[in-house]
Amino acid sequence: MKALHDQTVRVNSGAAWEMKKGQRVRITFQSIVDFVVFNRDNLQERFDQARTKANQGKIYLSTGDLLLSKVNNPMMAIVEDTFKGTHDLQYGMCSECSYTTRWNRRHLPPWNKLYPEAGITCREDLPLWGCYENIMTALQNYPIIPLDIPAPLNIGQHMELDEKGNLIWAVFAKHKELFDPVPHIDLRAEMNCLCAASCDPGSGKLGSSKGFHPKPIRIQVFEE
Ligand SMILES: [Zn+2]
Repeated sequence: MKALHDQTVRVNSGAAWEMKKGQRVRITFQSIVDFVVFNRDNLQERFDQARTKANQGKIYLSTGDLLLSKVNNPMMAIVEDTFKGTHDLQYGMCSECSYTTRWNRRHLPPWNKLYPEAGITCREDLPLWGCYENIMTALQNYPIIPLDIPAPLNIGQHMELDEKGNLIWAVFAKHKELFDPVPHIDLRAEMNCLCAASCDPGSGKLGSSKGFHPKPIRIQVFEE
């Protein structure tokens, strides 16, 4: 089937694309993908992490689950998902600000252990910008102010919870098993959509020190 839209997005950059109701997007990834969606006919209506979790009574989404807006409208449905891990719905997006904040907290756990192990000795060893800036740039031709970009569905960001509710960001530890073979996720638009995605930098030197090397992602849109 011929794709209506076929785009490769390099690491630490973003893309935006429109979809008509009923069209399907396939995102093929060996990186974390921060993904957001807006109602194309009313850009103030956008993806909502909390409603998506609460209405479906779960924190991990996969095939058959919906992406919901703040007013509970189904925006997209996951129709295929070959990723062997979980897609995170707890963390927001990385950004220039988030990396700087972590760097400023480098004397505190877990960074005071992780950074020396990874050979991180200066702010420039962490990504200089992140998914927030990538999505902001991708949406620059739309009337959406950056503060209105919602917290994303973090595709491929494998997340585990311990019995006390602590978040365990396990994607680095398990990336070899999770990304082989190369996974994809298919989402069907349940309304006319404006989508945006960022190919996450994988925490730069911190990820690469653990053997996690993000690769460009591919975005293909098809008629259903
Ligand atoms: Zn990111």
